Amino acid sequence: MAQNADAMNELHWLIDMVQTIEVGLVVLDRNFNIQLWNGFMENHSGISPNAIKGCNLFEQFPNLPANWLKQKMESVFLLKNRAFISWEQRPFVFKFKNYRPITGRAEFMYQNVTLLPLASLTGQVTHLSMIVYDVTDIAINKLQLKAANTQLEHLSQTDGLTQLFNRRHWQQCMNHEYERFSRYGDSASLVMFDIDHFKRVNDTYGHMAGDKVIQHIAHILSQSLRETDCAGRYGGEEFAVVMSNTRARDAWHFTERLRTRIAASPIQFEGQSIQVTISLGIAEVGDPVESASMWLSNADHALYQAKQEGRNRSIIFEE
Ligand code: GH3
Ligand code: MG
Ligand code: MG
Repeated sequence: MAQNADAMNELHWLIDMVQTIEVGLVVLDRNFNIQLWNGFMENHSGISPNAIKGCNLFEQFPNLPANWLKQKMESVFLLKNRAFISWEQRPFVFKFKNYRPITGRAEFMYQNVTLLPLASLTGQVTHLSMIVYDVTDIAINKLQLKAANTQLEHLSQTDGLTQLFNRRHWQQCMNHEYERFSRYGDSASLVMFDIDHFKRVNDTYGHMAGDKVIQHIAHILSQSLRETDCAGRYGGEEFAVVMSNTRARDAWHFTERLRTRIAASPIQFEGQSIQVTISLGIAEVGDPVESASMWLSNADHALYQAKQEGRNRSIIFEE
């Protein structure tokens, strides 16, 4: 008698706990009709257990990914194995509003869901339980961390003044491109360029004006690039571009276009018009180029030659 009372008590407690636990509990029969719907599910869906008991889950929630979810559930019935649905796979199964103050930024509750086979006393799997965890806090933290990392990565690769790649990252691009050449023989060209008589700009108009000129040139450069080009600020007023799948001749057409555009677009600064030109060196990768640094030095040589020959011109490196 006392044992019976104990068991009854225990059952009672369990039911109380199921009702109040901060986890969603749903029991479905073989036809996906709802047999149990705990307090958590009631609170977040606004539908009481009495109203929903016996109803078909997919009719009650037409927005559920029915085909996908049924397939998962069928395999739970069949294989008598658990299945998991992670928020990273699908942010939520039940579209519940998120009311958490800390993670107010999420509109919907992120959920992890476990599907658990429930066996009858004879060992047959006649029912299935859905256990729904609110993982909004975890998900938001992880997403924010990911966003912060992406932002950091961007900052670590970018030159602050021009928003082009910084030297370090640009050099990685170049090394990468050189590797592509050594492995697959892909063609590529390097362009190095430098503003002509830039000291004069600083001396005449001031350092602030000089910075504006650098930004202006970076802007024109960005607008002239193709998707596959990698452009960086190599030094103070030196720029560099890696052009994939580009022969020197084609790179030369690019540099000439860029050079004439820059020469033809003076910068307005505090009522004054500042006109600058650039000199460019081009080096194609090829068999005599034995390393990435040799490739770079070839482009630098060509740039030096362009300066020597009178500036405001493009020169292709030749042995
Ligand atoms: P050249 O035609 O031979 O290139 O003559 P140049 O006067 O441009 O000579 P060089 O390239 O050696 O000079 C670079 C000058 O650019 C020196 C430095 O004062 C200036 N400079 C470098 N970085 C910056 C920068 O970030 N802002 C400004 N305003 N000036 C810079
Ligand atoms: Mg220079
Ligand atoms: Mg210069």
